[in-house]
Amino acid sequence: MDKNKQDLHKEYFNLGVAFTGVPSQDELAHCPGVPTEMRMQHGRVACIECVQQIPCNPCEGLCKFGAITIGEEITNLPKLHEDNCVGCGLCVAGCPGLAITILDRSYSEREATIDFPFEYLPLPAVGAWVDAVNRAGEVVCKGRILRVLKPEAYQGTAVICMAIPQEYLNEVRSMKRLPKQDRRE
Ligand code: SF4
Ligand code: SF4
Repeated sequence: MDKNKQDLHKEYFNLGVAFTGVPSQDELAHCPGVPTEMRMQHGRVACIECVQQIPCNPCEGLCKFGAITIGEEITNLPKLHEDNCVGCGLCVAGCPGLAITILDRSYSEREATIDFPFEYLPLPAVGAWVDAVNRAGEVVCKGRILRVLKPEAYQGTAVICMAIPQEYLNEVRSMKRLPKQDRRE
């Protein structure tokens, strides 16, 4: 992408989630659900990129560890208590906004992992290399599939765990849909 296009692209996404469907860097910086870098280095932790004050709160009830609070006002943004989070992932498939991922920088020196919700078929196979995408659905790098879980309680929403290079952990949030011929089942 040339520099002018890059600037326009950045300007557009700085408008924020209400205009683009993608949270801006400013919205993420002020989001109470985003964990610190230090916590991510210590192992799996939820990253709740919920930046719109919508009437929604299942994440709070799903977490049995008191790691997510919304409080009495249902439009409050969910707050992550990162030291309480054990990275179990129960909140990921239960978020109707697909706003929660699990991040882990402790996986290896070169690779970090992300667990993300995925509602498309076909699902990838364990071990497959896929295109990892950012919040806007743009391809960022290659990712390696480590696990594909299909929680019974959330039929239709799989939770996929993918390894990616450490440097892209703050950018990658999902994977590109697979073409039909790669169908696994
Ligand atoms: S990953 Fe588990 S412990 Fe962490 S916020 Fe989600 S449900 Fe709670
Ligand atoms: S369940 Fe998801 S969309 Fe609803 S408040 Fe929690 S993080 Fe936001």
